[in-house]
Amino acid sequence: MKLYSTNNHSLSVDFATAVFNSMPLDKGLYMPVSIPELDKEFIDNIDQFSLSEIAFKVASALLKGAMPEEDLQSIIEDAINFEAPVVALDDNTAVLELFHGPSLAFKDFGARFMSRIMAYFLKNNEKTLDVLVATSGDTGGAVALGFLGVPNTRVTILYPKGKVSEIQELQLCTNGQNIHALEVNGTFDDCQSLVKQAFADDELNAKLRLTSANSINISRLIPQTFYYFNAYAQLKRQGKAEVVFSVPSGNFGNIAAGLLAYKMGLPVKKFIAATNVNDTVPRFLETGVYETKPSVQTYSNAMDVGAPSNWVRIMDLFKNDKEALQQVVQSYRFTDEETLKGINAIYEQFNYIACPHTAIAWLALQQYKLENADINYTGVFLSTAHACKFPDVFPDRIKTKIEFPDQVKDLLAKPKKAENMNTDYESFKAYLNRY
Ligand SMILES: *Cc1c(COP(=O)(O)O)cnc(C)c1O
Repeated sequence: MKLYSTNNHSLSVDFATAVFNSMPLDKGLYMPVSIPELDKEFIDNIDQFSLSEIAFKVASALLKGAMPEEDLQSIIEDAINFEAPVVALDDNTAVLELFHGPSLAFKDFGARFMSRIMAYFLKNNEKTLDVLVATSGDTGGAVALGFLGVPNTRVTILYPKGKVSEIQELQLCTNGQNIHALEVNGTFDDCQSLVKQAFADDELNAKLRLTSANSINISRLIPQTFYYFNAYAQLKRQGKAEVVFSVPSGNFGNIAAGLLAYKMGLPVKKFIAATNVNDTVPRFLETGVYETKPSVQTYSNAMDVGAPSNWVRIMDLFKNDKEALQQVVQSYRFTDEETLKGINAIYEQFNYIACPHTAIAWLALQQYKLENADINYTGVFLSTAHACKFPDVFPDRIKTKIEFPDQVKDLLAKPKKAENMNTDYESFKAYLNRY
């Protein structure tokens, strides 16, 4: 596998380089130089394969030559060790549940695969890999649990004090081993700024082997294609072939993976990019003007992104042809008030509890159905997190019905451990220098 930069198509690096650097020096994003198309026979018979078989088929096509196939196979089996079921709600609506991994969010797919890929490419006696990650909630948990116990790696997570939910905080602070949590007296932006300063600090970089684990890493994108293929396989088993996916979007990594799957030959009728009021993409698709904005805080806070970093990947997949993109991607945005109404409506109609991000994907699917009532298709909205991670958003009558998965029961029994820190860089640097 070779990768280029979205800013420079004549660049060509190997997979390991792209994994450890996350981003090319020209500040583009890494994309595969060529996107393999899966053979039609596989797609036609995809209903006969399991998630891990599908994952292996897709990954070996994408990563061709990056590692021996048996190594890739064992990385996949270790990383993707939970299900992604499509749950039917009525005859033509289903929810793709992506929250059955350890951190109860879809980011487990990316983080678990990335951690194992990084560990694989580290040579035996190399310096410990220091992963720095700033989180507003979900990323930190997935990265912490993804790297937990992975040899030769150490993770430092910065999170804003009082601004993540209780379960999110427990996921960051109860791991021990190679996972360190820093509770920062500031905002998510402060956390991110500390991490950025560390990456730009030559002295620190001479001492530690620093890497980021953010959502632009190509090794997080690749495993997210697996569950789109696998969802299609499940639908096919139910005799359904026409599918529309509605994806709750913030940094647009999830939907970028869906579109990559589409380019690899997955038959999908339409992708819906569902956002909250951070609506840079829906505005672009309506007006043709791409204008980023500072992010606004909402109930669906994992989607509070004013400048979606993966958007350039999507434009690159469509060779910057906006019309071609509009044939495949439709986009809608929703306010907090609408999100609450959505949560209530899904509960009334299906007795199903959707997290606020998931509710936005459902709302977008409803909107799409209103505009496309005559056509026969199954609408699948992606559930990106378990509702128990965002309890404060729900009205009491629903909140009390949220069931806690086993992962959470285990967490509540563990002691919480985090170091408190101010927002000045010197404190953070001193902390890292103690390693
Ligand atoms: C990260 C996240 C999103 C947004 O995903 P992107 O890939 O950034 O578009 C949506 N929902 C939840 C629960 C998340 O954690």
